[in-house]
Amino acid sequence: MAVAAEVVIVGAGLAGLAAARRLSAAGVDHLLIDRADRIGGRVATDVVDGFRLDRGFQVLNTAYPRLADLIDLDRLDLRFFTPAVLVRRADDTVRLVHPLRMPFAAPATLLAGVGTLPDRLRLGRLLMRYALTSPARLLTRAETSAVDELRRAGLSTRIIDELLRPFLSGVLADPDLETSNHVVAMILRSFARGRIGVPAAGMADLPRALAGPLPPDRIRLATDVTAIEPGLVRTRDTDLRCRWIVVATDPPAAARLIPSVAPVRMRQLTTYYHAAEQPPVAEPILLLDGHRSGPVANTVVVSQAAPDYAPPGQHLIATSVVGRETPPETVVRAELARLYQTSTTGWCHLRTVAVVGALPAAVPPRGTLRAPAQVSSGIFVAGDHRDSPSIQGALASGWRVAGAVLRRRS
Ligand SMILES: Cc1cc2nc3c(=O)[nH]c(=O)nc-3n(C[C@H](O)[C@H](O)[C@H](O)COP(=O)(O)OP(=O)(O)OC[C@H]3O[C@@H](n4cnc5c(N)ncnc54)[C@H](O)[C@@H]3O)c2cc1C
Repeated sequence: MAVAAEVVIVGAGLAGLAAARRLSAAGVDHLLIDRADRIGGRVATDVVDGFRLDRGFQVLNTAYPRLADLIDLDRLDLRFFTPAVLVRRADDTVRLVHPLRMPFAAPATLLAGVGTLPDRLRLGRLLMRYALTSPARLLTRAETSAVDELRRAGLSTRIIDELLRPFLSGVLADPDLETSNHVVAMILRSFARGRIGVPAAGMADLPRALAGPLPPDRIRLATDVTAIEPGLVRTRDTDLRCRWIVVATDPPAAARLIPSVAPVRMRQLTTYYHAAEQPPVAEPILLLDGHRSGPVANTVVVSQAAPDYAPPGQHLIATSVVGRETPPETVVRAELARLYQTSTTGWCHLRTVAVVGALPAAVPPRGTLRAPAQVSSGIFVAGDHRDSPSIQGALASGWRVAGAVLRRRS
């Protein structure tokens, strides 16, 4: 049996691509394989009737540190959302701006009625602290749940329930806010420092850009890995010999391939895509359900940020629902009428995208945000379950694991 490569990377999602980029830049002979017929893993875009539907609404944050290191963000032609949110409550809709990005509008946000005035000041202070503190320092804090961290910062149940719970539940797929405060600190730090957007042509442009500099003949798709052992990767068709293996699969597949990797609970996110001739709001802004009487966490008119997401004369609305239930589209559409305070009867339902394994649960005690790179002799593990459950977590983990491989070779 011939040697396939010095390093075989199993999984061409963001973590596998980041690992391949670092190994390739160091001149290491590698082979990147994926069972799917495309790269990108959980980041994909389908074109349906001229609409670009990401396989689950997701966004890029320009402050993700590993992102700018790996790609030229200008080439993604990012289209940005307004640095603010709308919060729909029982009787009104309140607009809250990002105080660091829209300082002139910040006084209006301070006067807005979500939580109390001290709540809003404390939240501003918390975001400022996340923005200005280094990740290493934030990670030295004692580990607890997100909701405990927010309460310890003095925030009332009201501001948590009206603003932070719907916002963070859409980001982490965790309505109970049981996620580790370390993860939440990293994610809120990025929100405090960065801008949120999508590539003009869809999220699939992200893995495409990551793969750009890689030699195409070192990527093998439609190749399902059935087992690994030190120095050997078994696929359905053939066995591949190598020196090092990087398992950069989704968390359940990693646990199947490596018995010492504990299975992780996966959280579900479901996106409902609708088309409308008239946008229900005048700007690309995330609308949160602060009343939490229905299943929707957040909704946004994506095409107002990225016009190419919809054909001319149409708008694309993406609505996120968290949890194992996939409510009927009619229920979600009725909720959207309440949230946007407009009729949705003329809207066209394009698709419901339910991702059962959208994000790994990152609940304490994790001990460390960054799980060890190497799990046994010659076998390394990367992916968002080894860092924060996010694009940044996947990229950082892949990069870090490739660094560990480079150190072991030298
Ligand atoms: C709906 C949704 C919304 C999200 N929203 C955001 C957001 O707004 N912001 C954010 O930062 N993050 C978001 N995320 C999270 C982010 O997309 C993921 O954290 C990241 O893409 C995970 O990358 P990964 O490389 O770790 O894993 P994956 O993308 O799962 O890649 C693993 C790859 O391994 C392959 N594989 C698995 N088993 C095998 C096998 N046996 N043989 C060969 N190949 C195999 C798979 O085909 C896959 O391509 C969201 C995710 C979803 C699904």
